Amino acid sequence: MPSFSYRYTCVRCATPQTWGTIRYRCHVCGQNLRIQRKANADAPSAMDVVTAFQESESEGMWRYGALLPVEAHWGSRLRVGGTPLIDCGDDGGVRLRIKDEARNPSGSLKDRATELVLAVAKRGGCKGAVTASTGNAGASLACIAAAQAMAATVVVPASTPLAKLAQIRAYGANVCEIGGDLRRRL
Ligand SMILES: [Zn+2]
Repeated sequence: MPSFSYRYTCVRCATPQTWGTIRYRCHVCGQNLRIQRKANADAPSAMDVVTAFQESESEGMWRYGALLPVEAHWGSRLRVGGTPLIDCGDDGGVRLRIKDEARNPSGSLKDRATELVLAVAKRGGCKGAVTASTGNAGASLACIAAAQAMAATVVVPASTPLAKLAQIRAYGANVCEIGGDLRRRL
């Protein structure tokens, strides 16, 4: 297994923060955090990592687990990622290929990030998750949280399409509807 170290670093003051506990804000200035990954001295070469991808028995995005900050067994068991690349032929010398992300569990590419975030949250002992969304991200969180047996709450603007609301509710998530512009209200 490739050997990498992770840590949170503040986007404003660059203060490093402890990895392994759930953190949301810098403990010094309160700003958002970014994740930094560093290869350890015993980390494999790029070719070793590619070989690990090729030999992995995991499906979808967990095939690339060697580069992810959480082990595959924390995943939802849904097949996320590994979507087909559809060859649409040659058009005037340009080869067009379309990545069909609608094949993901909730029908959106958002499932990739949600799968990873909820795996980290699950490992950290979280029982539920909340997101603000105008549709797809909320449906994704609701879907994968259900598969993880985690509670989900999705904060949506009143303008959210009914089809997306129905999808979010069908997964069993709690929906909290607010008026006005979502970005201004948060
Ligand atoms: Zn800071």
